[in-house]
Amino acid sequence: MNTITQASANTQYFIDLETKYGAHNYHPLPVVLKKASGVFFWDVDDKRYYDFLSGYSAVNQGHCHPTILAAMMEQAQTLTLTSRAFYNNQLGEYEKYITDYFGYDKVLPMNTGVEAVETALKLSRKWAYEVKKIEHNKAKIIVCSQNFHGRTLGVISYSTDPTAKNNYGPFLPGFEIIPFNDLPALEKALQDKNTAAFLFEPIQGEAGVVVPDKGYYTGVRQLCTEYQVLMVADEIQSGLCRTGTTLACDAENVRPDIVILGKALSGGVIPISAVLADDEIMLTIQPGEHGSTYGGNPLSCKIAIAALSVLKDEKMAENAAAMGQLFREELAKINSPFIETIRGRGLLNAIVINHPDEDAAWKLCLELKENGLLAKPTHGDKIRFAPPLLINKEQIIECVKIIENSLQCLHDI
Ligand code: PLP
Repeated sequence: MNTITQASANTQYFIDLETKYGAHNYHPLPVVLKKASGVFFWDVDDKRYYDFLSGYSAVNQGHCHPTILAAMMEQAQTLTLTSRAFYNNQLGEYEKYITDYFGYDKVLPMNTGVEAVETALKLSRKWAYEVKKIEHNKAKIIVCSQNFHGRTLGVISYSTDPTAKNNYGPFLPGFEIIPFNDLPALEKALQDKNTAAFLFEPIQGEAGVVVPDKGYYTGVRQLCTEYQVLMVADEIQSGLCRTGTTLACDAENVRPDIVILGKALSGGVIPISAVLADDEIMLTIQPGEHGSTYGGNPLSCKIAIAALSVLKDEKMAENAAAMGQLFREELAKINSPFIETIRGRGLLNAIVINHPDEDAAWKLCLELKENGLLAKPTHGDKIRFAPPLLINKEQIIECVKIIENSLQCLHDI
């Protein structure tokens, strides 16, 4: 039965404020949150919800993780920003920590995910001209259809989503789009000697958690090596234990040439992103050629070390793998005509809804909200299920029950 209720006056007040004074570049579910801890949110009427979005995988460690908050509080009272005009006593420690953690020579710190993607694109082009010796201004970067790498003009230039591009042209040239999970298409594109890099998401999150075939990462690695092209993995959503391994590419023990991280690098506290690469690539950028006022600030450095250590200390990759497996198994037991597909890896999962009403996924999310679970549709008929990685077995079972009960509402529309 459909149990959707009217928003309370309290909830409506905050929604109206945002609608009147904020740009309308998002379409949120009608819930107003005021507090969170671990896997839970509370709304302004004190109702509790399971968070099944985790800030688009920024809150892998769970909301308001005490270790991350303690690191933040301490550093916030000591030194927050120096700019890179001067050295500070946190940046080097962080650079050592993160490069040891992932096994790369160097890191370039930025803030939002898309800035790190832009950084990786600039690095790839620099490397192409200065190391690979591609003719000036000819460098090409291969990307995948249905990609999502953020919202800057550079990055949307190679988006295949009309909503992301509509009336924002003219766009940046120098990209070739091939299908995801298609090694022959990649090999064909790589034959152009002006190719600098192949940029891809190991699992396409925004596209609806599209997981490539086993062997894809290995194949990409082999082809990129063979054609002397950089393998650039955007692990902003798939990385940091979300898919059951530290990086999604670890599932095949593949080491990309450039790794892009963001989101959970701060555990959802402030925007922190990073690009990892070895010296041959990273040292092509010289002083003054790239940067960001906030990139590598002492507060971010301290938070990122805490966020990374929590992932390891609390074995979040292992828990994501086990709970993800359980979640998909339990979902598969639901007998509903409306679930067309269940897919994912670790705790990055999605269902595809099969229903004649094109708003069915949105309506199901409204019903899930009523029943105490927050998730959001992506690309119409898909719903991503990505709780914080500390979720436990009992909670998974309870959440699958909520999903099962909520699916009943689709019989009424
Ligand atoms: N790359 C991927 C794979 C993402 O999922 C996202 C955000 O969803 C981004 C890049 C952009 O990150 P940000 O929103 O922090 O700029």
